[in-house]
Amino acid sequence: MLAGRRNIDKYDIFYFISIFFSVGLAQSWGGFHVAVVDIHTHVVPNSLADLPARHRLWPTLEMHEGGRAALVIDGKPFREIDARSWDVERRMRDMAADGTDVQVLSPMPELLSHWLPAELADHLARIMNDHIVKMIARAPDKFQGIGMVPMQDVELATKRLDDIQKQGLRGVEIGTHIDGVPLGDPKLTPFYARAEELGLLVFVHPLHPAGLERIGGPKELAAAAVFPLETALAATSLLAGGVLERFPRLNILLSHGGGAFPWIAPRIEFAWKMAAPWSKAIAQAPSETLKRFWYDTIVYAPASLRFLADQVGSDRLVVGSDYPFAIRQPGPGAFAASALKDISFDANAAVLLGSGRARQ
Ligand SMILES: [Zn+2]
Repeated sequence: MLAGRRNIDKYDIFYFISIFFSVGLAQSWGGFHVAVVDIHTHVVPNSLADLPARHRLWPTLEMHEGGRAALVIDGKPFREIDARSWDVERRMRDMAADGTDVQVLSPMPELLSHWLPAELADHLARIMNDHIVKMIARAPDKFQGIGMVPMQDVELATKRLDDIQKQGLRGVEIGTHIDGVPLGDPKLTPFYARAEELGLLVFVHPLHPAGLERIGGPKELAAAAVFPLETALAATSLLAGGVLERFPRLNILLSHGGGAFPWIAPRIEFAWKMAAPWSKAIAQAPSETLKRFWYDTIVYAPASLRFLADQVGSDRLVVGSDYPFAIRQPGPGAFAASALKDISFDANAAVLLGSGRARQ
């Protein structure tokens, strides 16, 4: 296998086939329907309010009438949510309407709680992971899952990866920084090493982004703008830290089409070629590392998606939506297919999601 190229081997192919059947794609394929696997959807359990833990940053839910709720953190409402965040039947109805065959469930990013004391984050992670596993069990042909671990304690987080795999989850979601620690920091090395060994994907999601104060105007608009910039910071940190060079089989999925990262990558490549300190620190060309990440398709404009495919390769793209939040890409499968007709997004998803099983 060549570093910098698609890391597929005979085990991946075997598990590609097993995943293909396990998610019911074969039947869809027989009917000439290409299955849509939505890799980027979020979950909030409806029972956080019952938990005994008490800490001002512990998330709680205020349930309202009509299946609505407010997620409250530090005494302030963080976001209004509704039953789509936890109700399996409702999700399946929405999936049918949206043309989605399989959703990959992951925690609402704010619940990753990298700022909580590690033992509380560990407790929350267990609740989240158990909840996702239970949702999958209700309709295993419609759902798969990505869990969370207490990243603020790297040793504990690394240990918990084994539990994630035993639960049948396909990977873990982490923020774009761990309460200020960049993702390329050497202290996270044991975590990446174990994730690679277990074949678990690492889903990097914007969280507590930098730069909000540089924009002004409506808070929601600023948040929409800085998320993709934040992902670019995290991806560049992973690049600068040589993480994918050191762990060539590690699968890292970047949110929202990698945010601004694919756009700034040619500039980074240019700088890498001309700046000796950088090229000494990183052996692999940034343009090659760019092709080692995975990317979802949440970029909203077909032209942006075509640019992304051109930059990173057609085998690194998987369909995503950000369901059930307001910013979600509607009809994610149709959107992706309309922009890029010849890409097998479902086959890509099967490789990405199947790699975890290959090394059990
Ligand atoms: Zn998201």
